[in-house]
Amino acid sequence: MKKALSVVLALCIALSLTVPAFAAQKACDCGDLPIVLVSGMGVLPFTRDAGTPQAEVVFPPHPNIAKCVLRGLRGLFMTLFTFDVKPFADAAADIALDMLLPMACDADGNSLYNVAPQLIEGAMSEQDASLYEDAGSAEFAIIRSAVQAVDADHVYYYNFDWRLDPMTNADDLKAYVDRVLRETGHEKVRLAACSMGGVQTMAYLEKYGHDKVDTIWFLSAAFCGLLFVTNVFSGELQFSQESFFGWLQTLEVGSEKTDKVFDKLMGWCAHAKLFAPLFSLTNKLSDKVNSIVIDRVIRKTLSTMPGMWSFVRDERYEEDKKATLPLDASETFVRRIDDYHYNVSCRREEILNAAAEDGVQIVVISHYNNGCVPVTSSALAHGDSLIETTCSSGGATVADYGYTLPEGYVQQGCKEHNHLSADGVIDASTCMFPDSTWFIKNMAHVGCNKDSDYAEMLRWMFAQKTQPTVFSDARYPQFLQTDAKTQMTLSPVE
Ligand SMILES: [Zn+2]
Ligand SMILES: [Zn+2]
Repeated sequence: MKKALSVVLALCIALSLTVPAFAAQKACDCGDLPIVLVSGMGVLPFTRDAGTPQAEVVFPPHPNIAKCVLRGLRGLFMTLFTFDVKPFADAAADIALDMLLPMACDADGNSLYNVAPQLIEGAMSEQDASLYEDAGSAEFAIIRSAVQAVDADHVYYYNFDWRLDPMTNADDLKAYVDRVLRETGHEKVRLAACSMGGVQTMAYLEKYGHDKVDTIWFLSAAFCGLLFVTNVFSGELQFSQESFFGWLQTLEVGSEKTDKVFDKLMGWCAHAKLFAPLFSLTNKLSDKVNSIVIDRVIRKTLSTMPGMWSFVRDERYEEDKKATLPLDASETFVRRIDDYHYNVSCRREEILNAAAEDGVQIVVISHYNNGCVPVTSSALAHGDSLIETTCSSGGATVADYGYTLPEGYVQQGCKEHNHLSADGVIDASTCMFPDSTWFIKNMAHVGCNKDSDYAEMLRWMFAQKTQPTVFSDARYPQFLQTDAKTQMTLSPVE
């Protein structure tokens, strides 16, 4: 009896093992390859000690505003009393530390605390549809466009711990891609890489190749790094009146009417003589401020995260390591960041060209006409308020924010088509993929509003079976613009 039971049990186990194998072989002939959105930073929250009574959301940070203001004011008064910038810089550093320290990594680049991001398991058909139907975040509005283009059971949202080493994370993305292929019964996926998802996608391509990838859409993606982080990690903060007030102009401060007044006022401030001494004083003090910001904040928080180093561009990488590597960084840490830098960052064109040559469709959408964070020398670059346009476009030649390319400028690449924007700001011919790179003027970083023209453009992209180009559809030429306030319309740049 016992023997018979064990035979039955063994049979059951054998059967249960073969069921998933059969399921995996069931091919889907729907004709639509699954779409995986590879997410950016800060969309889903990070929790410390999840599942315990002490569980606490640590990112995005939720500072006690009153406490911050008090601290800031105390520092400011001390600074005014003592004619020393240190107390104010220290107060600002304390505030930043409070917000960022729970996210710090250890000497090897692993999470210092028991902190992890929220993940979304399974296809969109398994989620509450309100997740993307009432999308509060642009990434879920993009998911909504994907669900309109293909069935919800073929759309996935991949989130990851963006602080960690992208090359280690690539193992997790590989397991995720394999799971999507198993669940949908297809042989290839299409990846929509948003913002930092561009870094993670590049790491995956380097480590696991492009055999299982049919299409990559880089949407406001950091696949070519970020000038902003490169400059902050160089340890040289720089403040300019023009970029500071220019950046303020891009913020929304209320109704259309008050916004217009505010924009005019900030435009005036950008060039007013009145503020010039203040900015020159700030820059004179910047040595002291720099060392406080770098040593007390950056080296204890952002630079402890290997993921942040994947943004640093080649021209400054080794210099930045000397300036801001965490003081206790281990050999493992350095090996990790070097691995991404030298094998992915420095080889990005080779990796993507090899994919394109093997038929992987590559689409890039980059935004412009927003200033960048005004604390470094790259603040005058055109961007989407976070990523500079030259980076998110894969190498466009872009005039400084508020300026145009020099008179008589001649496009540098592609002799077949015109790749100059009508407003004189962009030469797209220097991009890696000039014929499949789109630019949207005034659009926010990963901006996508529900039912907007851009959401419809993405739905169109997601429905394409062959490589779309900027000549495929008259509605979508290379240079488009949206209304800066509502971000609902799209029209050609004139
Ligand atoms: Zn299918
Ligand atoms: Zn061309």
